[in-house]
Amino acid sequence: MSERKAVGIDLGTTFSAIAHIDAYGKPQIIPNAESERITPSVILFDGQNAIVGTLAKQNSVAEPEKIVDFVKREMGKSRDQFHREFNGQSFTAEELSALIIRKLRSDAEKYLGVPVTDAVITVPAYFNDAERTATIQAGQLAGLNVLQIINEPTAAALAYGLDKLDQDQTVFVFDLGGGTFDVTIMRIENQSIRMVATNGDHRLGGKDWDDIIVNLVAEEFDRLHGENPLLDLQSYQDLQSRALAAKIQLSSRPRTTLVHSFNGKSIKIELTREDFEQLASPLVEKCKAITEIVLQEARMTWADIDKILMVGGMTRMPMIRELVEKASGGVEMTDQVSPDEAVAIGAAIQGILSMLGEEDKKGQRVIPMETREQFSTRDGGLIQVTNITSHTLGIVLWDENAMEEYVFPMIPKMTAMPCEVKNAFGTAQPNMKRAVVRIVEGESTVPSECTSLGTCSVELPPFLPKGSPVEICYQYNTNQVLNVIVDAFGKQAKATLERNAGLNEQELARATANLSLISVE
Ligand code: AMP
Repeated sequence: MSERKAVGIDLGTTFSAIAHIDAYGKPQIIPNAESERITPSVILFDGQNAIVGTLAKQNSVAEPEKIVDFVKREMGKSRDQFHREFNGQSFTAEELSALIIRKLRSDAEKYLGVPVTDAVITVPAYFNDAERTATIQAGQLAGLNVLQIINEPTAAALAYGLDKLDQDQTVFVFDLGGGTFDVTIMRIENQSIRMVATNGDHRLGGKDWDDIIVNLVAEEFDRLHGENPLLDLQSYQDLQSRALAAKIQLSSRPRTTLVHSFNGKSIKIELTREDFEQLASPLVEKCKAITEIVLQEARMTWADIDKILMVGGMTRMPMIRELVEKASGGVEMTDQVSPDEAVAIGAAIQGILSMLGEEDKKGQRVIPMETREQFSTRDGGLIQVTNITSHTLGIVLWDENAMEEYVFPMIPKMTAMPCEVKNAFGTAQPNMKRAVVRIVEGESTVPSECTSLGTCSVELPPFLPKGSPVEICYQYNTNQVLNVIVDAFGKQAKATLERNAGLNEQELARATANLSLISVE
């Protein structure tokens, strides 16, 4: 068998990280070519060159038109909904993310001295089908075999729990990163890790705190000089990085000074931590509300929680620590795993578990026995990690009495994965030519309030009476990516989901060819 090397990748909104399991079976972060343990998720396009990381970030003010950042917030969008153009070439969010992964991969290969072939990539637990599919495709476009997509809080819990599997406990993972907020309750029991409940807001993160400072300075500037400094891209980027630095300073100091110049005019603002906390209180309240919802969903109170695992750079902020301390009534918070590194480390652990699982299926033994033992339970089986679905997956049906469409939940939120659900539905009219199945994701029974994932269409035999059964099967794999199969009455017709988002096979091949023309540093 040719050598395979798996890594774990935390593809973050602001920073990304990559980790592996070393020869001693220990998870380790792999530093990039600049010797940094995390790489800014920022791309600078320079002709046919894409520069990823700190150098790109440093140039974001000087050359804002050549920069792409916060790509993760655009994942799952079609090319029409989001793309960026450079050198006459258009890039989707998957393609841009692929460039970030290529940088991580090639730096890792240089550091490890072997080709990196396989990866587990993490996503916020709250990512939907389109966002997950886009993440898998980003990995594939970077030339990797994507072993699995796992939820960031699950990865963090794995990093934290690997050497604590002997102590049964309930862990609350509070993950506030640069662009997303995830809260998840995990149970470590019988040497396995099980997700109990999850919730979050994938549009709430560090950038929103930065924006508060950006807007504060811009408003003051406008009041003083009658000009909006945000209308100029360079000034906007400059202010954004100053705001981020000010936010970080306020985590360790009670006050900071911001200076901003634009069009020959300047402003100096003193900002205290107290004022910043006041301005950011609506964001903190949002975090608090989501925290309460996830406890309700798990049918738990803080008294049931043994540990709070703080993940994501934003959990260093005093206002966030205070929120968690107050809300939980002082449940122990743990920083045992670095908030910036835990997710990539957990992904690397999942990578080795996936490879060991594959070996078991094929009856092979390539991974050293000592490594296997590190990832095994007392009775010799592999550590089990069970995730649950974070959204309900439904089918749109016709309600004859109400004369309107409604959503029937096929796989309810919080179902353990992988799972498969079959249901038979009657045809709505006699002699229907086709059964068209509309698949949606969301918690509402009203179709327009859910996200449409796509459709499945199957030809029906002629002259079927009304109410003839059509069997629909939803298969949800461990990546939380859905496959839908329609078995039509009398004739074993099958069809798989045609997605609204993501690239089809042809587009994937074309994108791979286009991306290969770009060199990544
Ligand atoms: P992540 O996506 O987990 O890497 O989180 C990065 C976010 O954490 C960014 O918004 C950073 O500005 C923020 N961050 C990192 N360190 C600190 C700090 N000491 N205080 C406040 N925010 C921080």
